[in-house]
Amino acid sequence: MLSLFCINYLTAHEYGHIVLGHIDHLISLKPSAILFEGISYVLPKDISPIFQQIKEFEADSYAINLLLRQVCANAMSAEGFSVDIADKLKSLEVRLYLWNFAVYTFWRLFGIEKFSYDDLPTLTHPPPAFRQEVAMGIARTSLRVNPQLGYDISNLPHLLQRSVLDVENAFSVISDQPVNMDAYHYISRKNANAL
Ligand SMILES: [Zn+2]
Repeated sequence: MLSLFCINYLTAHEYGHIVLGHIDHLISLKPSAILFEGISYVLPKDISPIFQQIKEFEADSYAINLLLRQVCANAMSAEGFSVDIADKLKSLEVRLYLWNFAVYTFWRLFGIEKFSYDDLPTLTHPPPAFRQEVAMGIARTSLRVNPQLGYDISNLPHLLQRSVLDVENAFSVISDQPVNMDAYHYISRKNANAL
């Protein structure tokens, strides 16, 4: 289930780059340029990494918006899951938690864990905390515009923050990386304190 969420996110994100015209835009600026997803990729000198960060946020927004509809509609097949798991997946809260857990893990795996505020202009991909902030905003708006029967949207921020913290704690257990929520301080001290 978690890997399926990741694959669906990745596919929708890359599709977003195409349908939103990112490739065409990049080529119009520099015909020889290629949009890479590698975080260590060095863009041609005359294209700022911020250019790609913006494209990444846009592709994320596209993917998140698309996949949230799937999560809300419980459009994932429960085939192959035990009755217990299939039963839990009937809860929108559980699906949202697992979806965010999976996507944030994906960003965390392929993102930069350690960076300073001064590094931000050099990154081609926004730090996981920033992408999470976009996901949080889109999820909030999406559920406000399309309210789901029986789901109280006021629980959403805490639910998604809890999944982020669970991912960070899991990373600290399986690696030598201590939990580091500094990036959240860049965004919001209030949210960082809640985490
Ligand atoms: Zn991308």
